[in-house]
Amino acid sequence: MAPAPVLVEAARLDAFVAAIFRAIGCDDAEASRISTHLLGANLAGHDSHGVARVPRYVEWCEAGYVVRGQKAEIVTDGGCFALVDGHFGFGQTVAPQAVDLGIARAQQHGISVVGLRNAGHIGRVGDYAETAIRAGLISVHFVNVAGSVLVAPFGATDRRFSTAPFSVGVPLPGRPLVLDFATSLVAEGKVMVAANGGKPLPHDALIEPDGRLSSDPRTLYGDYAPVGPRDPSKGAGAIRAFGEHKGSGLAFMCEMLAGALTGGGTSGPVDKRARIANGMLSFYVSPKHFGTEAEFHATGRTYVDWVIAANPAKAGEPVLAPGDKEAATRADRLANGVPLQPDTWESILQVARRLGVPQPG
Ligand code: NAD
Repeated sequence: MAPAPVLVEAARLDAFVAAIFRAIGCDDAEASRISTHLLGANLAGHDSHGVARVPRYVEWCEAGYVVRGQKAEIVTDGGCFALVDGHFGFGQTVAPQAVDLGIARAQQHGISVVGLRNAGHIGRVGDYAETAIRAGLISVHFVNVAGSVLVAPFGATDRRFSTAPFSVGVPLPGRPLVLDFATSLVAEGKVMVAANGGKPLPHDALIEPDGRLSSDPRTLYGDYAPVGPRDPSKGAGAIRAFGEHKGSGLAFMCEMLAGALTGGGTSGPVDKRARIANGMLSFYVSPKHFGTEAEFHATGRTYVDWVIAANPAKAGEPVLAPGDKEAATRADRLANGVPLQPDTWESILQVARRLGVPQPG
């Protein structure tokens, strides 16, 4: 049985994580952006993309893999489209800059397309869809992880794709929809969470080189100590793409659009690189400019209500719209604290102790 989680109040966790990033030289604003984003993933229930990432982010920054205080540079500017380079800055710094640009341009032109390349890990992609929703915009985000090859395509045992997430945000007033998932059957962070004693993986999440399906994190990481790094280059197997040939096809397109088109690179052999980085191609649409905003809101709202009123397949498990689960988890965790696996918490405390950051009381 998994050990009982440690419960930490959201505001205390936010302040503690920000202090860790200040201790490695981030300015106040960047440290807060990183901690608030990571905490936001925990609040949404995506612990794989939450504060469990702190040790790895610190390690990356100390190794010069990810660079503090970067400003995304506009490489191409076509008005309603743009390409920006994150110069390996923290994803939580350069991705919001790219998103803010896309929002501003869509508010001007009605639609915009913004490519981001060479971003440090941008975390939970739904966060960016939520930013666009707050600005009243629909957004679609194709993301890849250049240089990170973890996922076997449909019909294969070899790794070819990154976990390439995809997200769509729809701004229905009072009822936003946020679709946000990795195109791998599970996000890599979920394998990490399972390896840290958290939620076990589905039985078919991973695949061994001989084609056997597996739920053992060692398929991805090889042997590992209870507390310490998890290195996906050490395992012989792969994560499987979700949704059979269809999910595998979506992963393929994330590599094409977020990796090849942006120039940030794919998970592929021609893109062997010293640094792993996120790429993202985002589309923004303003319903107001389309002239159909009122119908969109009314029809969209009626449709959502109709869909979720479908008879549940399992009694007591209501049908949900994209984003509902995260909204419910957020409300619960804000009220009751953020549960962290003891191994995850200990890994963060170890980093804090090394950096001289006091543990929250
Ligand atoms: P997941 O499998 O939990 O799927 C989440 C999506 O499914 C959400 O849109 C959610 O609202 C919806 N959903 C969940 N349960 C539902 C239900 N019962 N009915 C209807 N809809 C439901 O997510 P995941 O694949 O584990 O991804 C986790 C996170 O990892 C995402 O935030 C993603 O952006 C992030 N990620 C980031 C990177 C990166 O490189 N930055 C890479 C991979 C994943």
